Amino acid sequence: MYRLHEKYEAVIGLEIHIQLLTNSKAYSNDLNEYGDEPNSNISAITLAHPGVLPKVNEKQLQFAVLLGLACECDLREENQYARKNYFYADMPKGYQITQDETPICTNGFVRLKDADGKEKKVSLTRIHMEEDSGKSIHDQDPFNTLIDLNRAGTPLLEMVTEPDIRSSEEAYNFVIEVRKLVRYLEICDGNMEEGSMRCDANISVRERGAAKYGTKVEVKNMNSMRNVQRAIEYEIDRQIEAVENGEEIFHETRSFDAATGSTAGMRSKEDANDYRYFPEPDLLPIYLTQEKIDGVKEIMPPLPHELYNKYTNELKLSDYDAQILTDIKDVALYYEKMIALSSNYKVCANWLMGEVKGYLNEKGLHISEFPISVERLVGLIQLIEEGKVSNSIAGQKVFPALLENGNKTAAQIADEQGLVQEDDSDALMGYIKAAIEAYPEKAADYKGGKKGLLGLFMGEVMKRSGGKADPKKTNALLREELEK
Ligand code: ADP
Ligand code: MG
Repeated sequence: MYRLHEKYEAVIGLEIHIQLLTNSKAYSNDLNEYGDEPNSNISAITLAHPGVLPKVNEKQLQFAVLLGLACECDLREENQYARKNYFYADMPKGYQITQDETPICTNGFVRLKDADGKEKKVSLTRIHMEEDSGKSIHDQDPFNTLIDLNRAGTPLLEMVTEPDIRSSEEAYNFVIEVRKLVRYLEICDGNMEEGSMRCDANISVRERGAAKYGTKVEVKNMNSMRNVQRAIEYEIDRQIEAVENGEEIFHETRSFDAATGSTAGMRSKEDANDYRYFPEPDLLPIYLTQEKIDGVKEIMPPLPHELYNKYTNELKLSDYDAQILTDIKDVALYYEKMIALSSNYKVCANWLMGEVKGYLNEKGLHISEFPISVERLVGLIQLIEEGKVSNSIAGQKVFPALLENGNKTAAQIADEQGLVQEDDSDALMGYIKAAIEAYPEKAADYKGGKKGLLGLFMGEVMKRSGGKADPKKTNALLREELEK
């Protein structure tokens, strides 16, 4: 297959459905709540009983603008709604309210790392507002399909990319970036496993250098980011093999089976629905004013790529550090607070990515549950900087004490527990002399040229001082004493 991957190129465009974290539904004031008792959040409006009228949810519009601005899209002023008609057992209206010809966002892009780790912009065709359908449940009753309409009317944004993606890794990275973005914007929880972000992949292959795209196949039902990648990998190989065998690729929709890692045909485009789109007669167009856009700009949080650029360019952190710090918004915001109090950027980053993350991982906690305030943690870092406690004492003794005691500062803890480093020369000399007396032969060997023995004496002094000897000073005094 490798040889064939040299010969062929994959072309991929993704469609991502993003469920919005609004309190109410897209066109009614029914609760938008995942996990409630089935069929409990469904008024006559969600069920589209005759005579009811939908209403637009302002929050959906605001979230669309947030995502559009974050992706540097063009925003549309006059937004019309359209009906997309099709029958589905779990769609009570018999149509979906969507935006057909007037998506609120067009153009724009999502930044990601390509296979070589270089920044790449994947262009967006559009982002539009629409609503989700209900849910058919096939695995709870052996004889019947159960229907839960709570999800019907959940506000969605659908993001459609241009066919700019060239590999399964890039597609995976794209989904990661979109998830990160919607979580930063707090418009969607981004949990693919729960269906709050869903991805369909359009895939074709062509010989490298060919001017035209091949026929695309749409793959559905990937319920995790890894499965998006697996489905695309399988589909690329399948299509290359077919083309090599002189077979034709059909324009069809295929379904991914996570158990086998393969895709199977669902329906061909010939029997595709004719959705008979027409303008939604019950909703007037809504106008997106500059005032509204400015209002959204005001609540725009810092974006991951902005923070990443700041950390690498201004703070001179490595790509790796910047990546880890910006992965999760609340971690980045914690870091932002740290560096407002301390200019030891790298030391702050190390503590956050080391001890703090280690603790959170071990306890399975989110950083919002981390018990040490930024001020107290930075206080500990300052103690290290001032040479009052060593890095290892800070990690082994002060950090655990900060975790246990919610009130005391690092300085108080170090003081009370007698952890403040001894840089008083008299005290140090006491330990040094005792260490040399304990190993007279080694001291002679050192003098005779075995300089490697310094470590032994350093260790001995550390032990005698209970780890509190200032290493730099000890080192200097010890050399002096041994050379005598
Ligand atoms: P359709 O008319 O079937 O909806 P669109 O042109 O609207 O097709 O594109 C839908 C999605 O398929 C977009 O994400 C687009 O980037 C992607 N796409 C279009 N053509 C191709 C192709 N030849 N190969 C892979 N993806 C494609
Ligand atoms: Mg289309």
